Amino acid sequence: MKKERLEEVTMKCVWCNKKAPNLKEIRISVVGRFGVGKHDTTMNVCSNYCEKKLRGFVEYANKYALLFICSIFGALLVMIASSVLRIPMVIPIAVCMLGILVIIFPFATPETVGIIGVKKSITIIRVLGFMVFFMGAFIFWLFMQI
Ligand SMILES: [Zn+2]
Repeated sequence: MKKERLEEVTMKCVWCNKKAPNLKEIRISVVGRFGVGKHDTTMNVCSNYCEKKLRGFVEYANKYALLFICSIFGALLVMIASSVLRIPMVIPIAVCMLGILVIIFPFATPETVGIIGVKKSITIIRVLGFMVFFMGAFIFWLFMQI
């Protein structure tokens, strides 16, 4: 009984992260952490607006999760290859590409989403993406000074 009450108080909308008394329970098909394998999961939303936004984003994530993960690995491989082959100029370009990738595909881990909600996680990841991009651009600029 005590636990039930606690859950009632802490239940939040998955999209906007607002606490609401009458959350709507929806079933949604989500792609797995590594971009493969879908599973149905139950999520709580506060309004039709949030449900629509959430479904749209999940659809987008399901479509591109695998491509996103492959691209991240691709960029990391490029970085490793460029250091092995001693072409340092490629590294900042790969860092910029990573930043752009994260801005285009702002996919957080389920844990992050659970804490701050999908909407906020997208914003935070995009900000991080911009920071990574500018870091890459800055390193590129430093290389140009040599
Ligand atoms: Zn909401």
